[in-house]
Amino acid sequence: MLVEMKDICKDYPQGKETVRVLKDVCLQVEEGDYLAIMGPSGSGKTTLMNVIGCLDVQTSGDYLLDGEDLLGAGSNRLAEVRNRLIGFVFQSFYLLPKLNAIDNVALPLMYAGVPKKERRERAVEALKTMGLEDRMTFRPNQLSGGQCQRVAIARAIVGKPKLLLADEPTGALDTASGNQIMDIFDRLNADGTTIIMITHEQAIADRAKHIHYIRDGVLSAQKEDETEKAEAAGRETEEEPLPSAPTGEDGETDA
Ligand code: ADP
Ligand code: MG
Repeated sequence: MLVEMKDICKDYPQGKETVRVLKDVCLQVEEGDYLAIMGPSGSGKTTLMNVIGCLDVQTSGDYLLDGEDLLGAGSNRLAEVRNRLIGFVFQSFYLLPKLNAIDNVALPLMYAGVPKKERRERAVEALKTMGLEDRMTFRPNQLSGGQCQRVAIARAIVGKPKLLLADEPTGALDTASGNQIMDIFDRLNADGTTIIMITHEQAIADRAKHIHYIRDGVLSAQKEDETEKAEAAGRETEEEPLPSAPTGEDGETDA
């Protein structure tokens, strides 16, 4: 099992209170799987991805990544595991503006200690698989959004990670560019890369093999209305639960 989470909770301090953002999340993702996680803004999607990707640590619960418990691991060890196992793709690309496509893609290989010549060769190769052979020396501001995201995917996969984590990868793109990104994900998954993709778009989620739903920090394999139907069936006189409080967020920007 590549990802194995049991009763994961994540609390954040908010003022004097503590807010539980992930509530007893259980998740198992096998190698080769392609999972989409859907949920409204503020439901905990990015928080969950950060814990899966070892960018953040759970407050409680057990998490094994590729069989390893990293709870007590230091930041160097976490960085090493991330670099070796995980590629990240974000809504807003996070390319370095002063570097061209090749140098952006080669950067993680530098951290991995790969020699310079090989870094460049592998970056060129990764960009070619993204259909960017004629954009290699362009900087991000000379590329379209879809092209930037393809550079970012090349950067994510250049180290041959087992797991690709994508947080709203099409959120900043038009439909055609988004579909192109989804075609690339299909190909990567067919080649064996495990993918966990966060989205709030149904058409995007439908491209995955499975969909899980997160709502107010609770992850479920059942869709919200199905959960409600099931709850309603088991409940006759109870009142409807109050809707969750607005988060004050303006949307899906993951700065
Ligand atoms: P989503 O990605 O689904 O929009 P997030 O995981 O970003 O949701 O956030 C879930 C909730 O956790 C939100 O209410 C958000 O305000 C809160 N939250 C996220 N990160 C932090 C943080 N570092 N400190 C405090 N609260 C946070
Ligand atoms: Mg988010």
